[in-house]
Amino acid sequence: MGLLSGKDVAEALKERMKQEVEALKSKNITPTLGIIRMGEEPNDISYEKGATKTCEGVGAGVKVFALPRDGSQEDLLKTIKQVNEDKSIHGVLLFRPLPKQIDDNAARAALLPSKDMDGITDGSMAGIYSDTGAGFPPCTAESVIKILDHYKIDPAGKDVVVLGRSTVIGKPVSMLLLKKNGTVTICHSKTKDMQKKVQAADIVVVAMGRAWSVGKECFRAGQYVIDVGVNAKPNGEKGTCGDVRTEEVEPIVAGITPVPGGVGSVTSANLVCHVIEAAKTKA
Ligand code: NAP
Repeated sequence: MGLLSGKDVAEALKERMKQEVEALKSKNITPTLGIIRMGEEPNDISYEKGATKTCEGVGAGVKVFALPRDGSQEDLLKTIKQVNEDKSIHGVLLFRPLPKQIDDNAARAALLPSKDMDGITDGSMAGIYSDTGAGFPPCTAESVIKILDHYKIDPAGKDVVVLGRSTVIGKPVSMLLLKKNGTVTICHSKTKDMQKKVQAADIVVVAMGRAWSVGKECFRAGQYVIDVGVNAKPNGEKGTCGDVRTEEVEPIVAGITPVPGGVGSVTSANLVCHVIEAAKTKA
């Protein structure tokens, strides 16, 4: 299998989304994403461009609510209330980290979990752990599952090791893998014998945010590796790299996602999938 292209997964998702949007439009519903941004942070602008392109490509709508970076908490909460109440907006992406004058917890609490497309509210997070299906998981964490599904890599009964335990990736992806009947081990900075655990796994999800920190010493034949890391290259070269030294690991394992072109390529497509799912509940 070699490289597990995220771009191919995103293309397949987009093809399906086009049909779903067409079906919704025949019922006079245009799935629409509301984006709330404070300022012009380069990461936010770049993600906004990708999400807008994906929405437009599948026929979905986008409305951007841009506030100044030094805007007040009151103005942000007003905007969140506005999108909560706007029936033409089915899902919302709120860019974080928010500027320092904003209370992140208050902003998260103001957003309706049913409109939270990226698993940031407590309600959406509870949905992941309670199996109620309420809300949506964080887009990146769920993209790992969409990649495994696309390549027909079934975690059921497999030993899965997740490197990283953040709220946005490590923990939710572990719960999603558990739901798929994987036997999940979560490693973090205090884990001992991590290399041994990784070598014993069938599927490894790497989300540490440590550029090129794991290489061939950790892997063996037959494994699937999903590299979630997006980091500046430590050698000063332009561009991004993953947590895994892909070049030396790819020849050993059964399949690995590249960076760029892997998980990151699926994230914005998955965001739009969530918007469409949210719109379907209004059909
Ligand atoms: P994070 O909040 O910094 O969490 C990193 C996790 O890795 C922590 O749980 C940490 O353990 C663990 N860790 C760090 N160094 C370790 C080591 N040497 N050994 C074992 N565990 C270690 O990062 P994040 O937000 O989850 O993001 C992880 C990566 O994903 C980053 O590169 C980020 O840029 C990338 N990312 C990609 C996308 C995408 O679309 N592809 C989206 C978001 C993020 P402790 O908890 O013990 O500190």
